[in-house]
Amino acid sequence: MIKVVKFGGSSVANAAQVRKVKHIVDSDPSRKFIVTSACGKESHEDHKVTDLLYLCHAHIRYGVSYKPIFAMIRDKYMKIREELGLKIDLQKEFDQIERVLERDPSVDYLVSRGEYLTGLCLAEYLDAEFIDAAKVILFRYDGEIDMERTGQLLEEYSGKTDKKLLIPGFYGALPNGVIRVMSRGGSDITGSVIANLVDADVYENWTDVSGFLVADPRIIKKPMRIPRINYSELRNMSYMGANVLHDDAVFPVKTKNIPINIRNTNDPDNPGTLIMNDCSEMDAVEPPHAVTGITGRKDYTMITLTRSHASAEPGFLRRILSVFEDFHVSIESVPTTVDTFSVIVQTSLIDQYLYEIVARLRREINPDDIRIEDHLALVAVVGRGMKAVPGMSGRFLSEFGRNQINIKVINQSADELSIVVGVDNRDFEKAIRCIYDKFIAEERKAL
Ligand code: ASP
Repeated sequence: MIKVVKFGGSSVANAAQVRKVKHIVDSDPSRKFIVTSACGKESHEDHKVTDLLYLCHAHIRYGVSYKPIFAMIRDKYMKIREELGLKIDLQKEFDQIERVLERDPSVDYLVSRGEYLTGLCLAEYLDAEFIDAAKVILFRYDGEIDMERTGQLLEEYSGKTDKKLLIPGFYGALPNGVIRVMSRGGSDITGSVIANLVDADVYENWTDVSGFLVADPRIIKKPMRIPRINYSELRNMSYMGANVLHDDAVFPVKTKNIPINIRNTNDPDNPGTLIMNDCSEMDAVEPPHAVTGITGRKDYTMITLTRSHASAEPGFLRRILSVFEDFHVSIESVPTTVDTFSVIVQTSLIDQYLYEIVARLRREINPDDIRIEDHLALVAVVGRGMKAVPGMSGRFLSEFGRNQINIKVINQSADELSIVVGVDNRDFEKAIRCIYDKFIAEERKAL
């Protein structure tokens, strides 16, 4: 059994957290590949090391001294070193970073140092073999990871030692050796790529929440955890706002059918959420609830065009959509009825040129009527268990009615995985609460 384990910034924010990490790693010998983020926030007032490094770089760019911020970062690592009783010569590492900065203040090099330094400290504390990501995670010049080369190098390094391997997340190197970082939160991708290449049995992603929650905890007090979710449900949930994992971290493990297990460093006994390609085997033993999760977002705009007999006119819808395409606006949903076509988009994508879009639509489509409604919120109810259950959407909709929530638009995907309902922004939280109470809290209590 091989597990790749990735620890997020909050799991390595200070010495106390790092002790928890050691406990987790030591408690399971199959946790062989360890990936770490840079130290995250210790408290609300604290800052992530990566943010501070970006800030250092901005200071350098504008010719302001970066030293005070750099000193904050150094103090943070020195404190961790002292509290964990590490031997590593961090002063030498910081001097080296400053020397490189004087020569070539590249942003990628500088911001990658958070993961690098955290990795060095963690490797010593865990008695793991440190491998600089610049030596194993290799990019091609087009920015994609060179899976073949990275795979060979990983095999070489793991063949040389009996120890666990510790690889910093978030960065790698281009073919010429220059350091390159991924997008923010990229350590999730590093972990996923390694899981793919070593054919891991599971990719554990340790963070500060016990997996995915059924609904946003800012709206629902102590929402339940989602024990299992498949990738399509996950995509639906995260697209509509629920976020724990970097979007690009899914692909490398999905292709090899490796489950991702989201776990909580502060509650290691909690099984967290298991994300899988296909949950059917486990579902057969323990059938899923109808609703896996409820999510959504506020601030959409719906533009509705009406023209008599337009439904019989080939290409009518295409002409509407091409206007949005010309403005580079991606479209959320296109509900239509006879002769009436609505287009729903995120308000932030069009608010700077809404009138230009409307003028173009008038000119090119010549509608009888055009209506704009903003302050629209979309609430998505997601669940593989809803498929082929008659009456599900009826039950949702009547729940909205019972709670005096006016529904402006409804959309159910043909795979029956999600039902999306448009309501006024003002009703957004209420809508999520009423669905949660009825379909999660009440049903699970009844079991
Ligand atoms: N440290 C990087 C960030 O804050 C990458 C990561 O944590 O995954 O975005």
